[in-house]
Amino acid sequence: MKKKQIAILGSTGSIGTQALKVIDEHRELYEPYVLTANNNVDALIEQTRRYRPEAVVIANKAHYRKLADALEGLPVKVYTGEDALCQIVGDAGIDMVLVAMVGYAGLKPTMNAIRARKPIALANKETLVVAGELISRLALHCGTSIYPVDSEHSAIFQCLAGEGNNPIEKLILTASGGPFRTCTAEQLAVVTKAQALRHPNWEMGAKITIDSATMMNKGFEVMEARWLFGVRPEQIEVVVHPQSIIHSMVQFADGAVKAQLGMPDMRLPIQYALSYPDRIASSFPRVDFTQCTHLTFEQPDTSRFRNLALAYEALRRGGNMPCIVNAANEVVVDAFLHDGISFLGMSRVIEETMGSVSFVGTPEYEDYVATDTEARRTASELVKRYSLSDSSMKQISK
Ligand code: NDP
Repeated sequence: MKKKQIAILGSTGSIGTQALKVIDEHRELYEPYVLTANNNVDALIEQTRRYRPEAVVIANKAHYRKLADALEGLPVKVYTGEDALCQIVGDAGIDMVLVAMVGYAGLKPTMNAIRARKPIALANKETLVVAGELISRLALHCGTSIYPVDSEHSAIFQCLAGEGNNPIEKLILTASGGPFRTCTAEQLAVVTKAQALRHPNWEMGAKITIDSATMMNKGFEVMEARWLFGVRPEQIEVVVHPQSIIHSMVQFADGAVKAQLGMPDMRLPIQYALSYPDRIASSFPRVDFTQCTHLTFEQPDTSRFRNLALAYEALRRGGNMPCIVNAANEVVVDAFLHDGISFLGMSRVIEETMGSVSFVGTPEYEDYVATDTEARRTASELVKRYSLSDSSMKQISK
């Protein structure tokens, strides 16, 4: 049987490396055909030597020379830059594109992969947050399938298998609640980056880990679900389930609820996206129900976790508003990771950016690009202003 040739965009990240572990378990079925990274050139060199893909791309051009020199003599094509990343997804040899890059940067390569009619395993949720309507329309037009990798959406996808057109009453997205689930507003005001990076259940890249701590991640997942499953926003409910054993649920028109359960391990949803519609064996840990006797559920608190409320608001307002939220969020998360803003300051900047950037009701691709630029500029200025006022407050209090 011909092996499925996989392009992994973002092979050096958390999802990318776990995808390679899935492939390691099934070398008779899958082969990495393209591997890509942004800055982590050493990891990309090591992966290339090990897997011998057809081609590799390093997005940041500053690292090209080092990559090309290290791989000289190997039968691997070496490219660099955003354009190369966007072009490579159309390579005739690719059977599936796993989009495991983080952030807005994933949008354009995903659009190109859809246009090239490559089945897509989508981890990069920002693509659907920014341009869900456009992506859905494009995928429908090109007849391209998008398989969810995010564990919640994979759970819903698994619950829907075999249900045909049976009407959905609602989707129930579970949320761990993150490391600050039980913190008071006063405690949230002083939490640190190190605390925010310590997720109780999942090991993930830095950006999504902070998004989980602020619950913006869940807001993004609501948007993602809206576009992946074609439901109305009011049909999507978020329930905090701290054990992360139930990955999400579907309630049908007759009141029946289907859930997908498993250990918090991204390899399962990654593998399901690669193997769909088949289920193949895996060595991943199994749920031991005698060890998890407490599965609990609570309502999310949108007054303490403002980002979830802001995400719902953006979805309700539609147009380019989710794109504004995404850009502002990328700016503030980066600032938080560089000690440039406080935990609660992040929501403040996002909310003000939502109120400042020009609204576009029915955006096309160019509008998203312009919105992203304007929202980043606005959010960056606000971050500067707040970090200055924060530091002058500290000066005064000294
Ligand atoms: P990581 O930060 O661990 O990895 C990101 C990957 O994208 C790296 O390979 C990185 O390269 C590459 N990359 C970053 N910026 C660019 C850029 N501008 N151009 C090209 N490549 C770039 O992220 P995760 O793996 O955690 O997350 C990836 C995506 O999957 C995100 O959208 C996230 O929301 C989603 N997701 C992640 C989950 C998880 O468990 N991690 C769960 C569900 C969804 P380099 O290493 O060189 O910087």
